[in-house]
Amino acid sequence: MLFSRLFRFPSHDMAIDLGTVNTVVYVRGAGIVINEPSVVAIETINGIQRVKAVGRDAKLMMGKTPDSIRTIRPLRDGVIADIDVAEQMIKHFIQKANGGPSRLPRFPEIVLCAPSGATSVERRALRDTAANAGASKVWLIEEPMAAAIGAGLPVIGPVGAMVVDIGGGTTEVAVLSLRGLAYSTSVRVGGDKMDDAIAASVRRKHNLIIGETTAERIKHTLGSALPPRGEIISMKVRGRHLALGMPKEIDVAQAEIADALQESVTHIIGAVRTALESTPPELSADIIDRGIVLTGGGALLPQLDHALSLATGLSVTVADDPLNCVALGAGRALEDPAYQGVLSEV
Ligand code: ADP
Ligand code: MG
Repeated sequence: MLFSRLFRFPSHDMAIDLGTVNTVVYVRGAGIVINEPSVVAIETINGIQRVKAVGRDAKLMMGKTPDSIRTIRPLRDGVIADIDVAEQMIKHFIQKANGGPSRLPRFPEIVLCAPSGATSVERRALRDTAANAGASKVWLIEEPMAAAIGAGLPVIGPVGAMVVDIGGGTTEVAVLSLRGLAYSTSVRVGGDKMDDAIAASVRRKHNLIIGETTAERIKHTLGSALPPRGEIISMKVRGRHLALGMPKEIDVAQAEIADALQESVTHIIGAVRTALESTPPELSADIIDRGIVLTGGGALLPQLDHALSLATGLSVTVADDPLNCVALGAGRALEDPAYQGVLSEV
């Protein structure tokens, strides 16, 4: 059903948000058609490697694979850590977005999002990866710019807007005005660090070893950027007991998870404060009017908007559909001539 909509459109140009945790694909004229984990499962049989699964199917295998299969997340800290695997993944998603390998009408133009901290070597790696995966032309857009457009912030006129994109590997803070980044910074803290902190806390407090997937599930259920008040909420968590070596189930309380997340939250707040301190005063005035907009999956952490608002005295809002903002914005930049100039060649 989703894909049948695509066939009305002659070109399959697309914008790809290649995230550390999720890859989101926007197809010109059709909108977002793919949103899947950035995970690839590779199987090795008799020394020969092949892709066993990509995306959601591969994520389901994480932490549960036999020796012959490895699950790989080809992006770390927002940049490509494993080029070959990243290429396989992009190829897979491009084909899927086109409804299968034979449906490609011509080689598409592809917009990729570059984290603002990406070096020129990393940008070229992004370009080459998309080119090898079948793109005829590759454009880059600054990720905070894409996030801001996707969140509906003004980026074209002489008005400052601040966007904070909290992804898996990094948090990007940027001030945008006149189609450009007036300020940007990227810190290596995001959802993954939060998951690690939760796993470490459960291990320390309960002597229980848990996997990445379980840590993330705890975050989604109990996570909070501020200490919980009122009702005591907890959940059952299973893992392997450190001393006994046996499977065990324990109760984890929300307060201890909020505590575990404190360091990451403080780090994010610090990056926002630094950004505000470094923003030219005319733009600061605009930010007072419009406040700060949060995008990325980390924006969904309960109370994060509130914690940031307490720390800055500004109004802080979570964008609609924060997980898709970057891809939506990159897609809009691809489609709408009004955004000409925000896309660049590598
Ligand atoms: P990336 O752009 O790096 O791929 P995303 O913007 O897709 O990252 O965000 C993924 C991160 O958001 C993951 O770490 C995920 O656990 C986190 N996330 C998603 N939903 C929530 C939630 N409700 N609470 C806290 N974190 C969340
Ligand atoms: Mg992202």
